[in-house]
Amino acid sequence: MNEDLARALEATTLDEDLLRHYSLTLGRDDNDGSHFYLYHALALTVRDRLVAQWRDTRDTYQQKECRSINYLSLEFLMGRTLNNALLNLDLELPVRKALQSWACDLEAVEQEELDAGLGNGGLGRLAACFLDSCATLQLPVTGYGLRYQYGMFHQRIENGYQVELPDRWLRHGNPWEIECPEATRRIRFFGYSESYRDGNGDIRQRWVDTQDVLAVPYDIPIPGYRNGTVNTLRLWASQATDEFDLTEFNAGSYTDAVAAKNQAEQITMVLYPNDASEQGKSLRLRQQYFLASASLQDVLANWVATAGHDFSNFAARNGFQLNDTHPTVAIAELMRLLMDEYRVGWNEAWVITTSTMAYTNHTLLPEALEKWSVNLFGDMLPRLLEIIHEINARFLSRVADKWPGDQDRQARMSIIEEGDEPRIRMAYLGIVGSHSVNGVAALHTRLLTRGLFRDFYELTPGKFNNKTNGVTPRRWLAHCNPRLSALLDETIGRQWVTNMDQLQGLVDYADDAAFAERFMDIKQANKAALARLVETSCGVGFSTGMIFDVQVKRIHEYKRQLLNVLHVILLYSRLLHNDTAGLHPRCVLFGGKAAPGYAMAKLIIKLINNVATVINRDPRLRDWLRVVFVPDYSVTTMEVICPGTDLSEQISTAGKEASGTGNMKFMMNGAVTIGTLDGANIEIREAVGEDNFFLFGLTAEEIETRRQHYDPEGIIAVDQGLAQVMQLLESGHFNLLESGIFAPLIAAIRNPGDPWMTAADFRSYVDAQQRVDDRFTDRAVWARMSILNTACSGRFSSDRTISEYRDDIWYADKRRD
Ligand SMILES: *Cc1c(COP(=O)(O)O)cnc(C)c1O
Repeated sequence: MNEDLARALEATTLDEDLLRHYSLTLGRDDNDGSHFYLYHALALTVRDRLVAQWRDTRDTYQQKECRSINYLSLEFLMGRTLNNALLNLDLELPVRKALQSWACDLEAVEQEELDAGLGNGGLGRLAACFLDSCATLQLPVTGYGLRYQYGMFHQRIENGYQVELPDRWLRHGNPWEIECPEATRRIRFFGYSESYRDGNGDIRQRWVDTQDVLAVPYDIPIPGYRNGTVNTLRLWASQATDEFDLTEFNAGSYTDAVAAKNQAEQITMVLYPNDASEQGKSLRLRQQYFLASASLQDVLANWVATAGHDFSNFAARNGFQLNDTHPTVAIAELMRLLMDEYRVGWNEAWVITTSTMAYTNHTLLPEALEKWSVNLFGDMLPRLLEIIHEINARFLSRVADKWPGDQDRQARMSIIEEGDEPRIRMAYLGIVGSHSVNGVAALHTRLLTRGLFRDFYELTPGKFNNKTNGVTPRRWLAHCNPRLSALLDETIGRQWVTNMDQLQGLVDYADDAAFAERFMDIKQANKAALARLVETSCGVGFSTGMIFDVQVKRIHEYKRQLLNVLHVILLYSRLLHNDTAGLHPRCVLFGGKAAPGYAMAKLIIKLINNVATVINRDPRLRDWLRVVFVPDYSVTTMEVICPGTDLSEQISTAGKEASGTGNMKFMMNGAVTIGTLDGANIEIREAVGEDNFFLFGLTAEEIETRRQHYDPEGIIAVDQGLAQVMQLLESGHFNLLESGIFAPLIAAIRNPGDPWMTAADFRSYVDAQQRVDDRFTDRAVWARMSILNTACSGRFSSDRTISEYRDDIWYADKRRD
């Protein structure tokens, strides 16, 4: 650390800093007992320590002249910062000590922090886990994103229905961010592109008559785990320029001219709340371009400041990772900046672009594949559309060289999808303009190269690679499960926090009765904590002797919360008939947000709540079955949920969940998975062994074959249990006062065209649930499975994932076409 700074921080103790920030920075009377101001003062105290290391980290990276990677993502689902900073800086004990004189415990102060919910679900949380791993591995990686004024909406449940409330997370300011107005960038929209002759007599293009918006960066420190490294997450906020429309101004419409500035500030107003679906709204494209252009200008300005206009080394020193198609417009924007702003020729610009850009695909779902209308795009970004047409023309001539006369293939592979309303296929732009394209689990990558991207794989197989997702063990084990964490430290040493393969050492203890007893006591304590959350948020009592069966994730038909509800209804029906043979008492917990415009997902929430109400109010079922829907699922609630879970529900239709990461958080915390052979479930099962995973359902291949002759009516006819469940649903038993509301869900189950084939997996799912009951009944058997799940979860650390990005994509020999 910088010597002066280090000395300054040593000279003032944490207690003194805390008091100083409380009374001087925030201007409060000494200890007026406000947890809110105490949180703020503590955040500033911790931030001071981060800032000192931050500067050091920048200097170190600069001296090393290493390649800098920029992780571009429209989403960063960060959650809380304080707890993570205390863990990574090892400040928890001194802070607890300092708080003693304030007669206040750390947990209470931490509750004051609002989640930074700048993401929808898995994709955004992955970006957050990656930042933690990059800092811990001391890699020069900067996150670039948007500073939404409103993050992911808050969810309330009213009469069983989801109600969305705005998330004004910046309401009380954000003590973790530092505004950097000196690095403000100008972003252009609309106008037109024209050619002109430059000073050398060369014909060039320029983008004129544009409407400009400013991008102002706010930096957030990202500390590594106890290693002195602090990386950066840079979030852009949109701001109006100070230029006015002079004619309007002079015509006396001063207030109108000022009001028009609102438009500019709209860009980063709100996060789009759609997970895995796109609606082609023009504001969304504005956000995407705003992020791409601001971030690229930032990186190029830094380059030019030291290297001038010599870009020969640029690709050796810079790389970009595109988190899904959302920021892929960056490929065209980098071409534009290099050619139009820095006078680089097409060929050189293309080599630079394709050797710096890398694209991560996150889904095979057709509704999630972004395609922008050529008209809309050309209106807003006319110069970029020209560049995309040129990229496409050159690319298609390569396709024609490789497959002469194959017109079909050219149409299939064209970046522009022709038709009444031609559209730009952003995923194809991502592939053509990158040196690396990766999927996020082995099955997902295989399906990409054999299906969706097959033509591209045949053209450039070397570009494609797999990077199975991971989650950070700091937040998802060390922080969220302190009891288990302490037991691990004592048993196998503390190395696991940064070297998760060490968890394998637990395998030796799987049959150690004394260890198993302690492991299970910890699970009990975590279940009690989860039960308290359920009691507070749902008013339902969970008894810790029951199986805690949990499905929390975005609500989506492909994730099949509906299949889970059908099983709950079957249990209910059996209990009504006093058929308890082989059953173990269960608490079933659901949680997750539905996109506000996704009617079926919202109806699934309503069904869960109605079924829960009927079950929970029947006193005969009290000791057998409880069902809740925990509202407002978030990173912070997951930190309580995953340590207290016995059974992790990962039941998507095979081939539809790209990876999943919730499955990994549960596994680390000793939950056993009931799941299909989908996404990373396959790798989880491989790691832990088939005896320690409850497998059910059709495989991805079987799903596709079965689709041709899928007959749900036939299935229901021969399955008594399912018939009974359908009968209860259709009789209106769960919606006595709201006749017919579940008809769309019933129709979906009975539909031979049901894309998610819920009925096909029902029996196999129910059988697997019976095996869960059988195993859970024997505490020693369950303890063994649970321990082995934690023990084998090492490869699902995002440290492993990021080491692979580092070795295969970021610091490998780059161009692969
Ligand atoms: C991990 C996580 C997710 C992703 O869950 P999946 O089960 O992989 O879909 C979504 N939301 C939050 C808050 C998470 O922490």
